[in-house]
Amino acid sequence: MPALEEYVEEIKDIWDTHWLTNMGEKHKRLQKELQEYLNVANIDLLTNGHMALELSLQALNLPRGSEVITTPFTFASTTHAIVRNGLVPVFCDINSKDYTIDVSKIEKLITKKTSAIMPVHVYGNICDVETIEQIASAYGLKVIYDAAHAFGETYKEHGVGEFGDVSCFSFHATKVFNTIEGGAVCFKDEQFGLDLYRLKNFGIRGPECVDGVGANAKMNEFCAAMGLCNLKHIDNEIAKRKKVVDMYMERIGEVSGIQTNLQQKDVKQNYSYFPIIIDEEKYGESRNQLYDRLKENGIYSRKYFYPLTNEFECYRSQYDVKDTPVALDISKHVLTLPLYADLTLEEVEKICKVILKEGGKK
Ligand SMILES: *Cc1c(COP(=O)(O)O)cnc(C)c1O
Repeated sequence: MPALEEYVEEIKDIWDTHWLTNMGEKHKRLQKELQEYLNVANIDLLTNGHMALELSLQALNLPRGSEVITTPFTFASTTHAIVRNGLVPVFCDINSKDYTIDVSKIEKLITKKTSAIMPVHVYGNICDVETIEQIASAYGLKVIYDAAHAFGETYKEHGVGEFGDVSCFSFHATKVFNTIEGGAVCFKDEQFGLDLYRLKNFGIRGPECVDGVGANAKMNEFCAAMGLCNLKHIDNEIAKRKKVVDMYMERIGEVSGIQTNLQQKDVKQNYSYFPIIIDEEKYGESRNQLYDRLKENGIYSRKYFYPLTNEFECYRSQYDVKDTPVALDISKHVLTLPLYADLTLEEVEKICKVILKEGGKK
């Protein structure tokens, strides 16, 4: 959160204008500033990351009932966005190095019904965007990236939102950059942008013309104001996160039975998550045992992502998790450790000591 005074200063003029929502001055300013910061051609702001995904799929106008290749190692939102559009998720496995879609397994899943690929940049690890691009253009498929974890990242100096037809960001309170709740869609095609804009505003084309079955997903002025304040500090926040990650790497980067996240080549990272994969045999404790022991010491890690979306009660009767064995394996062995800008290095040291089994409650 920004300093309270900073936020109060930013929202003061709302009491003069009484302009609370509906694409006001702050919405416009944040949109402009984010376009520059993310280094993207076009961007629109929405009420949250989920509506960014859901309305993007709708604006692409994919044939109803067509198939979208995606991964189950993600947040509920990705899969739900596909299903809620009357489309069919087809689950591709992930790779065990960076946990993003295994591009060598995509082509086998393509059928006559496939209309799109919806990959996820996991923990800020960027998908193999080049191979995905090749496959998509060879088969005439749309690509929609779930970039919720990848705010502010670049790959070979390109803003990550530039890849695919569409990239969707989340500005939820728990993400690297937040607008309390919020999201954005980056896109290439201008017509798509107009369609998306109408979908987020009830399908209204003009004062007396409503020609689309739209929803309401507009970012309000208070959320945009939060974003304007937070954006001023984002580089500093990411630098502070890097210090935490460096400390974790120094202390637990080489522990037997613990796999840490790799540094991807050509990627400017945002240090959004610190996942570790536990090999029970080598580490001497299972993922769940370590999770519990951390909790007993007052440390809250997350089993993220667990369970897989294809194991959810609402999907499990239609899918078999054995079709995505790597994702299943990672989801059973992963923990994400506490990571935020204001986490002190003393606290990181304490967390590492518990992981290294040096003191703390056993
Ligand atoms: C947070 C998140 C979303 C959803 O974003 P909201 O802003 O919470 O709606 C979607 N996908 C992934 C991978 C996320 O982490």
